[in-house]
Amino acid sequence: MKQLFYNGVIVTGEKGKIVKNGFIVVDNGVITAVESGDPTEEYSAIDDKINLKGNWLLPGLINTHGHIGSTLLRGFGDDLPLSVWLKTKMWPMEGKFTEETIQAASSLAILEMLKSGTTTFLEMYHLHLELTARLVQKSGIRSVMTRGMIGLCSKSEQKTKLAEAVELNKTLRTIGEGRITTMLAPHAPYTCPPAFLEMIVGEAKRHQLPIHIHLSETAHEVDEHVTKYGKRPVSHLAELGVFDVHTLIAHGVHLNEDELDILAKYNVAVSHNPNSNLKLGSGIANVPRMLKKNILVAIGTDSAASNNNLDMFQEMRMAALIHKGNKEDPTVVSAKEALLMATYNGSKALKLDHIGLIEKGKDADFIIIDSRQPHLQPSDHVVSHLVYSASGADVLDVYVKGVCLVRNKVCLSLDEEKIIYEANHAFNSLQT
Ligand SMILES: [Zn+2]
Repeated sequence: MKQLFYNGVIVTGEKGKIVKNGFIVVDNGVITAVESGDPTEEYSAIDDKINLKGNWLLPGLINTHGHIGSTLLRGFGDDLPLSVWLKTKMWPMEGKFTEETIQAASSLAILEMLKSGTTTFLEMYHLHLELTARLVQKSGIRSVMTRGMIGLCSKSEQKTKLAEAVELNKTLRTIGEGRITTMLAPHAPYTCPPAFLEMIVGEAKRHQLPIHIHLSETAHEVDEHVTKYGKRPVSHLAELGVFDVHTLIAHGVHLNEDELDILAKYNVAVSHNPNSNLKLGSGIANVPRMLKKNILVAIGTDSAASNNNLDMFQEMRMAALIHKGNKEDPTVVSAKEALLMATYNGSKALKLDHIGLIEKGKDADFIIIDSRQPHLQPSDHVVSHLVYSASGADVLDVYVKGVCLVRNKVCLSLDEEKIIYEANHAFNSLQT
């Protein structure tokens, strides 16, 4: 089936390149043409013609780190340090989670992400991932799913968790019509002892799976690592072979020059989560330095419990602003770089070469922004407005693989009213 999207501003995603008054053609979910001007005669036979009416079409946003299973804990336990928050709020509540909780939380998160322009998300979680995968299938969104593993247990339990994660990789990939891929996810160096990490690397190599891990989120965990092992986490992970496979780390807030050099040497990608790092008081990642060293930086929201929303526009804006203030230098992290982080860099970090740009041959994952909003005028400076002024509420339509999932701000693939009711009901059940 062919579709023609015309009379729009096409933000290709490639270093901020824009086609003013352009059109794209999609054939069976794949982009086959991106051109400027009005469609020529050769496209007149296409039945499905969509007039973009001057609105902005850009690649769907790619959220490279999160835990949607815990979305119901949004606003539960604000304003606490990470270790206290995890130990006294998150983990005790997660202990009560049932299938109903995960169903409600994941549905709510996917609905929120789709409506705010995210077309791909990475999930690191440990409960009922098959259920979440079926929601991915139903909703039409794209996902990289990882079973988060905590190794603070016996060796036999570690083996069971790893075997389950490897098995899940196979199962999850069969769900979601090709829209689900997987990685192996040791939770963090402070929850996964070295021998367990080595076991995980072995399986990652055997099954050619990338690795996703929280790394150096707080100064405290780095200090503890040095005390326990006599070395900093990054050099330790390199020694253990973690970076011999493609690795995406989340956070990377407390990294010194040597550690950044190691990440650059091994082409380790970073998921920058500025709002979560601020909210938990973890610090500010040295993204300008990462960019100088050509480290691939993508963006993630982390969970709704530490953000507190999943709006990638807010994450982009924060990524573009915070380093300017922190370094007292407005030239660091430009709007173009922030947009790239939320789109193309995300696709590279997740090893999804077929998305992330509006380009011939890529899958048709894109979103359409209502360009007539007052805060997006004068309408010339599209990239600037997308990063510094827009929000997820400006997203009109969302397409994944050419399938319309949100039209005129209404999600077509999910029942919004039911999801919002069930989210509140499931949270109330946890309280009793
Ligand atoms: Zn996280």
